Amino acid sequence: MGDIVEEIKNAKTIVVKVGTSTITHNNGTINLYVVERLIRVLSDLRNEDKDIVLVTSGAIGVGCSRLKLSKKPDSLPEKQALAAIGQINLMHIYSKLLNEYGQIASQVLLTKDVIDDEQRRTNAVNTFNTLFRYGSIPIVNENDTVATEEIEFGDNDTLSAIVAVLIKADLLILLSDIDGLYDKNPKYHPDAQLIPIVHGITSQIEQYSQNTDNSFGTGGMITKLAAARICNRHGIPMVIANGDNPYNICRIINGELVGTVFVPNGKED
Ligand code: ADP
Repeated sequence: MGDIVEEIKNAKTIVVKVGTSTITHNNGTINLYVVERLIRVLSDLRNEDKDIVLVTSGAIGVGCSRLKLSKKPDSLPEKQALAAIGQINLMHIYSKLLNEYGQIASQVLLTKDVIDDEQRRTNAVNTFNTLFRYGSIPIVNENDTVATEEIEFGDNDTLSAIVAVLIKADLLILLSDIDGLYDKNPKYHPDAQLIPIVHGITSQIEQYSQNTDNSFGTGGMITKLAAARICNRHGIPMVIANGDNPYNICRIINGELVGTVFVPNGKED
C-alpha cells in the first residue's frame, strides 16, 4: 500500500486525461470554471518540474456548441468537420490559460498508424521528449479530422494509456464526471459502492463496467478499464477520479487515496 503511494508521490511524468463531460456543460459549451482550475493545477505541477501531458476530449462537443447543434450528427464528414471547429476553439482556451500561467502549450494530434509504425512512433517519442525539454505542456487528442476506423484509437481513455506507455509515464490520471469505478453504474444504482483500490484487472472488475449514457462523451467504464489493462501490463499506476474538482489531481499527487487507484501487478484474467 505504502509503495504505491510513494510511487504516485514521486511520479515525474504524468498523463492527465479529461473527458468531454468534465470540461463541457451539458449543452456542449466549455466549462470555464473547471478548465481554468485544471490548467492552474497542471501549471503548478509543471512549475514543480513534473513533465505533464494533457489528453483532452471534447472537440466534437465544443464544435456542436459553436454551431448550436443540440446533438452530435451521425455522419463521419459532419463529425470530422465539427472536430476541426471544436479542436481549435478548445486549444485556444487551453493555450490562453496556459499562457496566463507562464506555460507553453503545444498540440500533438495522433492516429493509431503513427503508433503502429516503428519509425513514426520513434518520431513521436522524440517530439514529446523535446517538448518536455522545452518545458512545454503537450495537449494531445486523436486527429479526429482524418481518423477513419482503420487508423483510429477510438476513444481517448485508450489513447491516454497508449501515450503513457509511449512516453514511459509514471502515472496516468483519468478525470471523469464520476468519483471512480463503482461495483455498478451509480447513475442507475444508488446503492453502488466505490472501489478505492484495484490490484490487476480481474473478470470481476470487468463486470463492474457498463456502457455510458452520456450524449457527448463516449467510452464509459469499459474504455477506462481497457486503459487500466494497458497500464497494468506496462507497470504504470492509473487513477480514475472526479474532474469536477481538478484539485483532486493535487490530492492524488500528495499521496491521498482519491477515486479508484489501479495498482499495476501485470496480472489479468
Ligand atoms: P468521460 O467523458 O469522463 O470519459 P464517460 O461518460 O465516458 O466519461 O464515463 C463515465 C460514466 O461511466 C459515468 O458517468 C457512468 O455513467 C458510467 N459508468 C458505467 N459503469 C460504471 C461504474 N461501474 N462505475 C462508475 N461509472 C460507471
